[in-house]
Amino acid sequence: ISDLFSHAIEAENGMEALKAFTKNDIGFIITDVEMPNVNGFRFISTVRDMDKGRDVPVIILSGTRHDIADKIKGLTLGANDYVLKPFEPEELVARVKVLIKMQQLQEELKEKNAILEMLSLTDELTGLPNRRYYYNNIRMQLALSKRHNFRIALLLLDIDHFKEINDTYGHDVGDMVLKNFAAALSESNRTGELIARVGGEEFVMCLFKADQKGAIMAAERIRKATEDLSFSAQDGRGFKITVSIGVAFCPDQHAQDHDELYKNADQALYRAKRAGRNRVAVYDPKVDGKNDD
Ligand code: GH3
Ligand code: MG
Ligand code: MG
Repeated sequence: ISDLFSHAIEAENGMEALKAFTKNDIGFIITDVEMPNVNGFRFISTVRDMDKGRDVPVIILSGTRHDIADKIKGLTLGANDYVLKPFEPEELVARVKVLIKMQQLQEELKEKNAILEMLSLTDELTGLPNRRYYYNNIRMQLALSKRHNFRIALLLLDIDHFKEINDTYGHDVGDMVLKNFAAALSESNRTGELIARVGGEEFVMCLFKADQKGAIMAAERIRKATEDLSFSAQDGRGFKITVSIGVAFCPDQHAQDHDELYKNADQALYRAKRAGRNRVAVYDPKVDGKNDD
């Protein structure tokens, strides 16, 4: 057995085993049932209750009684396998190997799931969080903002005349513009607040606990940074882009839920577009006036 592991720690009884388990990084447990103080069953159930003990493979070596009830009890408490004494060492080794293999497969599965989860929440083109990520997150943040009474600023950003860029320089250049714009957006968002690509050339940035002035300044900064970006087409022609930004706040302006907050920001954005683009507009219930109160 010891060939299978880099280290083995022996414990005299369940209490000692628990201490050793707590103190060390243990990857596998083989335990007896009958031990003074803390017996094997209590040892296993205590280990399983610990965060670090939830997935550790455990094999029980039964006592001399061949008691089916004990076997069931051990497995129910979370042991992965049960070996009756006396046993052939080869059998124990084989069972340990099986559990190690299973453990490895489980780890791989967990990693793959984490990658899939990450991919399902990431926009492929820009690497930014996607629309789904945004919706998952904003709902949680809105609930938090209600409970802890902090302001959320929603910035809706839409690149101006983007269709013309595609039409003039081609779709690939359009993609390159989106990537660079996204990178600039990430760069301007050093505080790590929520940004996402929610549509073709539409992005959001959420500022939490922001004051209104600060949020508007942040929007203005992004607008300017976008003006500063320079692009060149495949044939070397240079061109520039601009962005329009709508800003709305919650709970100021009485947005009841996310849909309303988003709609408010969208109306502000629409006003920025109509006013000539390349500007920041803040939702104003008097001008954009759709608020019922
Ligand atoms: P406005 O200033 O009013 O926002 O005009 P606009 O042209 O930016 O807006 P419109 O909604 O008319 O066009 C958006 C364009 O974005 C149309 C669509 O083909 C393009 N688009 C959407 N997704 C992608 C993408 O992933 N890559 C590229 N290259 N283009 C995209
Ligand atoms: Mg658009
Ligand atoms: Mg646009």
